[in-house]
Amino acid sequence: MIPISIAIHGGAGTILRSEMSPDRERAYRDGLQAAVDAGYRLLEKGGSAMDAVIAATVSLEDNPLFNAGKGSVFTHEGSHEMDASLMRGDDLAAGAVAGVRGVRNPILLAREVMLQTPHVLLSGEGAMAFAKACGVPMEGPAYFHTDFRYQQWQAVKDSGISVLDHSTASQLQGANKMGTVGAVARDIHGRLAAATSTGGMTNKQFGRVGDSPVIGAGTWADNNTCAISCTGHGELFLKAVAAYDVHARMLYKGLSLEEAMRETVMGKLVDISGEGGMIGVDAKGRVSMAFNSEGMYRGFRSSDGSGHIAIYGS
Ligand code: ASP
Repeated sequence: MIPISIAIHGGAGTILRSEMSPDRERAYRDGLQAAVDAGYRLLEKGGSAMDAVIAATVSLEDNPLFNAGKGSVFTHEGSHEMDASLMRGDDLAAGAVAGVRGVRNPILLAREVMLQTPHVLLSGEGAMAFAKACGVPMEGPAYFHTDFRYQQWQAVKDSGISVLDHSTASQLQGANKMGTVGAVARDIHGRLAAATSTGGMTNKQFGRVGDSPVIGAGTWADNNTCAISCTGHGELFLKAVAAYDVHARMLYKGLSLEEAMRETVMGKLVDISGEGGMIGVDAKGRVSMAFNSEGMYRGFRSSDGSGHIAIYGS
């Protein structure tokens, strides 16, 4: 029997064992496990891959440790601008939002774009007006304020650079750390889905949008090949059309998910210095994860009995 599977990520980057306290590591692992469980529970009950990736992503958006929803990083102006997208592999239905503020769970707004509009991506003021019309839960700035993110922002605020997440103050000098959360799943009916959500980059310029809300770059799902969610330096993932690139290698070259992902992450992205990684699941329920950074917060569970939570490289 083909297994049901879910995989999640909580961002990639320079994640060093030496800079992680045991308590903090446990908190990250618990957060990742909670997200895997939230999605897997639905799959087990016969739920759809789409509902499973949304449940897992909401769990990560609500956790202040991850750069999405509540834990979103600060922009240069000291606010939070969030991006999210999702895609269904049955019919390529997709929804996305970019540059939204105050939305508690941007992935839920992305779902409304998919369900209620003829569009794929709504941004800025238009997306905010749509959020109000839909009645998705909103929060004030205090909800999104976490001391950890505030300190990250203070460290680079006046430098004129924007940095990726998962940095400690000492690492910010080198500035190449990622955040973002995402999930991919295969359900009992063989349907695939992918979701990605992010606060973007610390100190990012007003209006900057990365790969996460862009279908094909940060997110992709097609039942015939794979579902993919990316995390990494968004500008490079956009140029690599990273998520779609894996799908295309499987479709046109006949590669397995693992082979295709390796070519994209360790080849195409490395060639353009695109640091980061991705998670994926194929039509057979096989999970793959690849990253060219020091680490990637990640986890998966499959009904064939396999699964784990991991943070660092091997
Ligand atoms: N890809 C995200 C962006 O560029 C950041 C990340 O994954 O950490 O907005």
